[in-house]
Amino acid sequence: SNVRTMSTIRALQIQSQGGPEVVSVHPIPAPTLSGSGKVIVRNEYAGVNMIDTYHFGGLYPLQCPIIIGQESAGVVEAVDPDVTSVSVGDKVVQYGGGSYTEKQLLDAERVIKLPSSISTKTAAAAYLQGLTALTILREAHPVKKGDWLLVTAAAGGVGLLLCQMGKAFGANVIAVTSTPEKCELAKQHGATHALTYNKENPSEYIDSILKLTSNHGIDGILDGVGADTWESNFSIAARKGTIVTFGNASGPVPAFAPLKLAPKNLKVVRPTLFNYVTTREEREHYSKELFDLIEQGKVKINVHDEYPFTTEDMRRAFADIKSRKTTGKLVVKI
Ligand code: NDP
Repeated sequence: SNVRTMSTIRALQIQSQGGPEVVSVHPIPAPTLSGSGKVIVRNEYAGVNMIDTYHFGGLYPLQCPIIIGQESAGVVEAVDPDVTSVSVGDKVVQYGGGSYTEKQLLDAERVIKLPSSISTKTAAAAYLQGLTALTILREAHPVKKGDWLLVTAAAGGVGLLLCQMGKAFGANVIAVTSTPEKCELAKQHGATHALTYNKENPSEYIDSILKLTSNHGIDGILDGVGADTWESNFSIAARKGTIVTFGNASGPVPAFAPLKLAPKNLKVVRPTLFNYVTTREEREHYSKELFDLIEQGKVKINVHDEYPFTTEDMRRAFADIKSRKTTGKLVVKI
């Protein structure tokens, strides 16, 4: 007969955007090579990011059905004949859409080979958030020795990396979190000072920051919280300071008039990683800098928890990252 068994893999593919009920891990056809420029990676770990909740939840509209997930690390299983940058058996990492899947078809140029000292678990835990933190400090607000930096959600995934890299690059880091325990963790990761934020009483927070900086204010405000911290940023910024607004953990920031920047000649930057790390050259450059920081021990990767790759556990992972109870990185064992 003509019956063939289609090989399948498991993937987190959503059929529509919505509540946690749209999150489902189920079988889909396995990818196959098309002839040119592609590789198939057998994923070992994927990283959980706040953006996943915007993707299934609908803050960022997507065409469905779609496999969500933004980063993974694994082993190269097959390569097209013209691919020379990686070989079968190489351990690799990549960021980009469609990562919550057992096997992933990728453009070879998107895939970066791991140094032998970095495991696929560490890579999946470090990559997207590490590149985000690095490009914020190199491009959005090119950090200078002695700068005052403020990091919101400082005990989170991106936050702990910003604290460590900020310190490594010679800045004074003030961490902002929602609990004293998270403040302590941020201090253990390079923050010189740490304080909690109360959106009902921002003046106390603003006064503390101005006092800590001897009224200089903050040169680089690195804010992934968004809505809740937005307004205070204008009061705590130094003259000629930069507000880097890079996330929406508490909701997107409101529209504002450019004249709001004039009293201190402020800059506002709203970056996404994808526009800093786009070309092969940019991928290689920033991946190498990130791997070097990890190998030199300047950046430690904190894994909060490892989740199995099932519907129930993925729903739990997303509930956890939204709950504000996690610190560091959440990873999925694929
Ligand atoms: P985190 O691990 O930092 O988790 C989110 C944290 O945000 C929480 O732990 C919490 O810390 C804080 N938070 C503040 N208000 C809320 C709220 N209302 N609901 C939930 N959390 C809240 O996540 P990530 O490291 O993945 O992401 C951090 C931010 O960086 C996000 O806004 C994300 O979108 C952004 N990001 C942007 C990128 C870009 O390219 N622009 C790339 C990667 C991430 P606390 O309790 O201490 O306030």
